Amino acid sequence: MAGEGDTRRCRQCLLREMTNENDYYESVKRYRATLPPKKRTPDEIYEARLARCKSCSALENGTCRECGCYVEMRAARQDIHCPVERW
Ligand code: SF4
Repeated sequence: MAGEGDTRRCRQCLLREMTNENDYYESVKRYRATLPPKKRTPDEIYEARLARCKSCSALENGTCRECGCYVEMRAARQDIHCPVERW
């Protein structure tokens, strides 16, 4: 996991785990909180999606190298899926 001021790339980190990316993570949390309930991925499914991303070789610095999205943002919407169908 990358620490504060650490410029290394973290292959298996989510934004929430990267202290130097907290502003982005706060934006993701706000985005998720304001999604209409019908569009928002339920908590349990959201966490399962992120667990898949954590074990995926395409994850780097909270970003999916397949689609370029922050995975915590992409996973937040129920109607959007992994670009390579892992969730
Ligand atoms: S969205 Fe899919 S391809 Fe991208 S990091 Fe997550 S599991 Fe991997």
